[in-house]
Amino acid sequence: MTLTVLTLFPDFVESYFATSIAARAVARGFIEYRAVNIRDFAQDRHGTCDDAPYGGGAGMVLMPGPLGRALDSVEALKKRTVFPTPSGNLLTASYARELSEERELVLICGRYEGIDQRIVDLYVDDEISIGDYVLSSGELAALVIVDAVIRLGEGVISEESLREESFNGGLLEYPQYTRPEVFAGMQVPEVLLSGNHANIREWRLRESVRKTKRNRPDLFARLDDDLKGIASDEGAK
Ligand code: SAM
Repeated sequence: MTLTVLTLFPDFVESYFATSIAARAVARGFIEYRAVNIRDFAQDRHGTCDDAPYGGGAGMVLMPGPLGRALDSVEALKKRTVFPTPSGNLLTASYARELSEERELVLICGRYEGIDQRIVDLYVDDEISIGDYVLSSGELAALVIVDAVIRLGEGVISEESLREESFNGGLLEYPQYTRPEVFAGMQVPEVLLSGNHANIREWRLRESVRKTKRNRPDLFARLDDDLKGIASDEGAK
């Protein structure tokens, strides 16, 4: 997959791709990326990319000229183009899965009050929100989307990790423990030390269902009745 990120802060984007899972995915050739500096497409000597909003009001808006030229330079009209914005459709695991099937994505990082609507109308296929709150930077939001997408790509992380994690099958993940067996007087659940894989699977499923019920009643409500019943089985807290 090729990811092209249009930004006023390319160093911010570069640092993500230089770290951890993303860096490994780049090194192994699973993904390629480009960070394109929108300011390189400004036409005045100050590199101006933003201006006051028509109609008045607070803040500045990214101008369509430099951003449009940056988008043309990466042939965005031929590619699935994503604009992260609080007013977009909510990012979910299944939305990330759908995006992960694309060969190429272009992401536009907004700043200030956002970008000129004509850029959205002309170039953007997906307006995506990462949650019901407002960040000051499109870079963080774009990289959240990138991270949620690339980890689903073949070979980036193990199939087993993906199978067992939250939102798969509509459940949150069960609690995890590692050494030592006793920490701050709290013992790791006995079943996890038993070596009995059937019992461990059963315990994990029950804990997943309970956690989903406790933390995300909206997800719990969508589970089938058999799974819901597990939350109230004997031993449930
Ligand atoms: N004026 C905009 C509004 O009220 O919807 C908020 C602009 S925000 C300060 C600057 C940029 O950060 C946005 O253009 C967008 O790219 C990004 N951003 C902020 N919050 C976001 C969110 N929840 N999801 C996706 N992108 C977000």
